[in-house]
Amino acid sequence: MSAQIIDGKAIAATIRGEIAAEVEEMKTKYNRVPGLAAVLVGERKDSQTYVRMKKRACAEVGITSFGYELPADVSQDELLKLVQELNANSNVHGILVQLPLPDHIDDETILGAISIEKDVDGFHPLNIGRLSMKRRDPLFVPCTPRGCIELLDRTGIEIEGKRAVVLGRSNIVGLPVAMLLLHRNATLTICHSRTKNLPDVVREADILIAAVGRAEMVKGDWIKPGAAVIDVGVNAVDDPTRKKGYRLVGDVAFAEAKEVAGYITPVPGGVGPMTIAMLLRNTLDSAKRELGMA
Ligand code: NDP
Repeated sequence: MSAQIIDGKAIAATIRGEIAAEVEEMKTKYNRVPGLAAVLVGERKDSQTYVRMKKRACAEVGITSFGYELPADVSQDELLKLVQELNANSNVHGILVQLPLPDHIDDETILGAISIEKDVDGFHPLNIGRLSMKRRDPLFVPCTPRGCIELLDRTGIEIEGKRAVVLGRSNIVGLPVAMLLLHRNATLTICHSRTKNLPDVVREADILIAAVGRAEMVKGDWIKPGAAVIDVGVNAVDDPTRKKGYRLVGDVAFAEAKEVAGYITPVPGGVGPMTIAMLLRNTLDSAKRELGMA
C-alpha cells in the first residue's frame, strides 16, 4: 500500500493563517506587530533568494521585516555593531543573520552576539544548550527541527515510545531534531558518516528523519513497513528535461520509499515550507513574550 503523503505546503499554509490571526489580534489589542530583521552579507544568489522568501512570508502574515544588506567585505566589527543595534531596537523581535557568512567573519562570534531573546533561528549556543538538557526550555527551537516535529504532530503521528532514527548530526538540523525527539520520549538513534550498517539501523525506525544532504541515499528496502519518514534533504540532480537543467530531490528515494512507508514527506513541498512557517512562529512568540502575552 502506498504511504500517506504529508503535505508540508498545506500544513505550513494553515500555520501561516494561524499566525496572521494572532498578529491581527496583537495589533488590535496592543497596536504593535512583530518585527523580524534579516541581515544579508554579500551577494550569494541562494542567500538572496532565501532572504527574499522570508521577507515575503513576513508580509503575508503582517510581520514587519527590516532588511540589511552589507557588502561581502564588511568587517566583523561593523557586523557586530549592527547586531548590537538590532538587539537594542524594540521594534525588532527576531534577528536573522543569513548563513553562510564570508570566510573572514567568525559566525560563532556573530551568532553568539545576537540577544538570546531575539534568536529566532535558535542557533545561539545558550538556546542549543538548553535544548540539549533535561527540564531546560530554550527560548527558541531551530526552525527546521521544529517544523519536522510539527509535521509529525499535525499528521497525528505519536512520538512517545517510538524508535526514532535521525540521519545527520549537524548543529542546525540533525542534533536539535534528535534532542526534540528525545524530549518527546522517543527511543533515539543518531547516525552519521561513520555509522556502520546504516541500512540495518534505519530499518528499526518507526520515525525516520533524514538530514544528510545525499541525493536519494535512503532506499525503499531500508524503510520499516508503516514508518513515518521526514525527508529534510534538498539536493539538486541533473535533469535535462527541466528548463533549469536540474530538479530537487530529498535524501530518500521517494518513489521506492512511499511503497513501504506509512507516511512520507515529498521534496519539495515537505519540510521546506515548514522552516519559514516556524521562523514566523518564533518571531511571533518573541513579540508575545515582550508584550507579556505568552
Ligand atoms: P550537514 O552537511 O551540516 O550535515 C550532514 C550530516 O549528514 C552530517 O552529520 C554527516 O555526518 C551526515 N552524513 C553525510 N554523509 C553521510 C552518509 N553517507 N551516511 C550517514 N550520514 C552521513 O547538512 P545539514 O544538516 O545542514 O543539511 C542536511 C540536508 O538538509 C541538506 O540537504 C540541506 O540542504 C537540507 N536542509 C533543508 C532545510 C529545509 O528547510 N528543508 C533546512 C536545512 C537543511 P558527519 O557528522 O559524520 O559528517
